[in-house]
Amino acid sequence: MAEIGQQNVLPEGSTRVLGKDAQRTNIAVGYLVAQAVKSTLGPRGMDKMLVSELGDIIITNDGATILKEMNIGHPAGKMMVEIAKTQDSEVGDGTTTSVVIAGELLRKASDLLDNDIHASTIISGYKLATSRAIAELESIGEPIKITDTENLQKIASIAMGSKTIGVGTGKDVLAKLVVQAVTQVAEQRGGKTIIDKDYVKLEKKKGNDVLQTQLVNGVVVDKEIVHSGMPKKIANAKIGLLDVALEIEKTEVDARINISSPEQMTAFLDQEEKMLKTMVDKIVKSGANVIFCQKGIDDVAQHYLSKAGIVACRRVKKSDMEKLSRATGAQIVTTLDDLGTKDLGNAGSVEERKIAGEQMTFVEQCKDPKAVTILVRGSTDHIVDEAERAIVDAIGATSSAIELGKYVTGGGSTEMELATRLRKYAVEVGGREQLAIQAYADALEVIPKTLTESTGLDAIDTLVELRAKHEKKDGKTYGIDVYGVKVGEMKSLNVIEPLKVKKQALQSASEVTEMILRIDDMILSRGRPQMPPGGMGGMGGMPGME
Ligand code: ADP
Ligand code: MG
Repeated sequence: MAEIGQQNVLPEGSTRVLGKDAQRTNIAVGYLVAQAVKSTLGPRGMDKMLVSELGDIIITNDGATILKEMNIGHPAGKMMVEIAKTQDSEVGDGTTTSVVIAGELLRKASDLLDNDIHASTIISGYKLATSRAIAELESIGEPIKITDTENLQKIASIAMGSKTIGVGTGKDVLAKLVVQAVTQVAEQRGGKTIIDKDYVKLEKKKGNDVLQTQLVNGVVVDKEIVHSGMPKKIANAKIGLLDVALEIEKTEVDARINISSPEQMTAFLDQEEKMLKTMVDKIVKSGANVIFCQKGIDDVAQHYLSKAGIVACRRVKKSDMEKLSRATGAQIVTTLDDLGTKDLGNAGSVEERKIAGEQMTFVEQCKDPKAVTILVRGSTDHIVDEAERAIVDAIGATSSAIELGKYVTGGGSTEMELATRLRKYAVEVGGREQLAIQAYADALEVIPKTLTESTGLDAIDTLVELRAKHEKKDGKTYGIDVYGVKVGEMKSLNVIEPLKVKKQALQSASEVTEMILRIDDMILSRGRPQMPPGGMGGMGGMPGME
């Protein structure tokens, strides 16, 4: 009765879901979302083909991309998508892992709710388990330095693992480029190594193949050199960066100009030309031989620049201007009077090249550039896009490894080790939370289990074998050798991952689980929420739920 009364308070068309029903619905939705990406986990995971309303096709294995493109409408589903995004922006890898763990935590929570364990007990048990898991993770982790190129390359390579391009030598080539790029832009600040991933520019161009992807020690600007009279290549470039239009801004002249004779007309044009010439003279005086201009460059100015042997590009993006500044050491100037020799930057070479039918300007051979470009190639748009996603993951993983300075082994080994340790901890804690901590431990095993399933191995037997390894003293690095199709030692197989990625995955998975479990009342002001689209990744029912 009370419920009907409350319903009347709400506007027409709204629905309200209360108590266990709300929890159940949200848990089911969260679990379904996780199921949708689960089959993509690991290097032998499957790809998904996503077709948008407009018919655009994306083929990917990237958890974050899949979730983003699925257009999930249910609020609990949206929360799951959010953690994937957080994972992506914080560490750039481990999105599928975090979503799959969250889904499993929710499923285990639903079993506990069935056994009349209150949501708040589950939440506090999960919280204890998360902080213990993170503490254990820190103790399992091993140190890695920015100079440890060999291990960093392994990390980059594993992060690209499941993407289609990542097969064979392609992965090694890209891993090498990524590590070079990331270590190049790394900076020391206050005793810490900081990597701003924005300064590894990715420029995609279809054509050639992935192996032709190259690292440019500088910036590739997607603009042509403005005037045909300018040289196409300049060595020892002295670069000026202008945030000034090399044009006469007509709008600034408010006054009406009365021209009554041809002489006056010529004088007026002469005057305009003179002003432009003065602008160019200031550039010449600074000693620059290359100009990147964020605004326009008038034809007349182009002519004078060309005569002075200066190369110029116009309407360069603001973000590229910043990268050019970081790569060459040039200062961006906002008035020409400010332009002096000290503002100029340097590059060994500036050259316009035709890539896939388009002119691009390469600013390269910069000395210790703090911005670099990876020119991503591939034979089709789908491959270029997937290569880009793989490179983004690898950049994320490499940066995470350097910034936190620790790594762990992959292939489900770390999750299995944490599960083993958490089970012991659960007994220590005892009481009602014990069951929740045990459930958390079981949930972590979803990672080795899913990797096992991706190889076609029998999941039950393999997990029993793996658990037994982890009970032993030296067993913590054993995981699933997905190519050898057996249990294996991950370090010797070069399967290593940044600790930061694992840590963030646990944190975000626990956070979203807690948020979803806390909800016991949902007020939906516009009709009922939609379930995620069906038919993907075995989104059938889940045990013990409708
Ligand atoms: P995520 O989006 O979570 O990064 P991935 O599809 O990249 O998902 O899969 C990551 C998982 O695959 C990790 O658990 C990682 O340890 C595992 N993995 C990657 N490469 C290998 C490999 N060569 N052998 C075993 N496991 C691997
Ligand atoms: Mg990954």
